Amino acid sequence: MKTIPAALHIPELADEPGLVHGFSTTLLGSVGLTHAPDREPVLASRRSFLEVLGLEHRTLTTAGAIHGAAVARVDEPVDLIDDVDALMTDRTDVVLFTTHADCYPIVLWDPEKNVAGLVHAGWRGTKKGVAAAAVGSMRQEYGCRHIRAGIGPGICGRCYQVGDDVASQFERRFVRPDDGGKFLLDLGAANRNQLEEAGVDAVYDIGMCTKESYLFPSHRRHPDGKRFGAIVAVR
Ligand SMILES: [Zn+2]
Repeated sequence: MKTIPAALHIPELADEPGLVHGFSTTLLGSVGLTHAPDREPVLASRRSFLEVLGLEHRTLTTAGAIHGAAVARVDEPVDLIDDVDALMTDRTDVVLFTTHADCYPIVLWDPEKNVAGLVHAGWRGTKKGVAAAAVGSMRQEYGCRHIRAGIGPGICGRCYQVGDDVASQFERRFVRPDDGGKFLLDLGAANRNQLEEAGVDAVYDIGMCTKESYLFPSHRRHPDGKRFGAIVAVR
């Protein structure tokens, strides 16, 4: 019998001694509070997610995810930083957290300075350059020189149908027409390009599409308000 894993990881970043990261699957249930009819199951799912990553009883510091490009430095555990889409820390008592259902989580890690970051990137944030802004902030705040990036699960370039209003805001190489007069936008590729242009040492990609995988909630597949979570912490 096949079992669903509780959390998945970017393989190339999974064995970093100083980094904890993961993406919760549907096994743990939805971790999104905003559209939840009942808070308690969501909070229980979040506790389970922490336990799976060996972070029992820790506080999740959640990025508000407002589809912007602002970045916050987190120096102590707080529940919510509501006006940003990216968080970074060098503190081992801080656990960074974002929720997703097609938007991409991006993990940033500097093994030299032991600084970690977590980015929430939908099309608006990608257009505004949130991943590059987070890389820039890690350099500015902590003197990071060797940042590695990992792109987590998100809606892929075969599945993410958008109108001309969105498609026209991206470089043509990230967009192609679909059969029905709309366009397919490859947000993963746009973020990879953005991170490479920002000069990170490496960009890894878990290569999983939320709309195509039963392991993650997808707004486009089922717009039911369910979310998976991304956690990043310094060990
Ligand atoms: Zn897909």
